[in-house]
Amino acid sequence: MTARRVGSIQWSDAPGGWLNGVKQLESPNFNARPPGMAIDTLVMHFISLPPGVFSGNAIERLFLNQLTTSDDPRLACLAELQVSAHLLIRRRGEVVQFVGTDQRAWHAGPSRMLDRERCNDFSIGIELEGDGAHRFTHAQYRRLAQVISLLRARHPLRWVAGHEDVAPGRKQDPGPFFDWARVLSSPEATGLIRPF
Ligand SMILES: [Zn+2]
Repeated sequence: MTARRVGSIQWSDAPGGWLNGVKQLESPNFNARPPGMAIDTLVMHFISLPPGVFSGNAIERLFLNQLTTSDDPRLACLAELQVSAHLLIRRRGEVVQFVGTDQRAWHAGPSRMLDRERCNDFSIGIELEGDGAHRFTHAQYRRLAQVISLLRARHPLRWVAGHEDVAPGRKQDPGPFFDWARVLSSPEATGLIRPF
């Protein structure tokens, strides 16, 4: 099941892979993918800033390199990071897009999948606002299914991996509360495989 439009969200006619009907905040933390690279993988993440806090705009500011880390000692370790996912799905299902999906967002870091290094080259990074101690929301799962449908209308997706799959030992997201069975059994995800 793929669609170029789901509800109020649809692909923009502008180049680069931007969705209309979502909040767009353009991050500088991207560059071009290698020429001819097929975008065949989703990498799932969680993030909350500060950790365990599901409100405010610290995630957005992190991905825009605008985080004021002196405000909170829990954020100090993030001061020099240059990172961004393509998409963030917040607790109530709001979608924020930071990087066009045709571009390489800096979300996975050193990583490996199916003998391929540098997962950023061939993947789309989706963050769910959350952590390793709370269930994700129904609104997030519903929105994720819609987003998967939209992404498959533009990109030849085959694989879905967790950040913890492609960077084992280094990363723990999306963690024990991410319901893989629920996501992979949805009609929108039919045929996608988690190769781990
Ligand atoms: Zn991650």
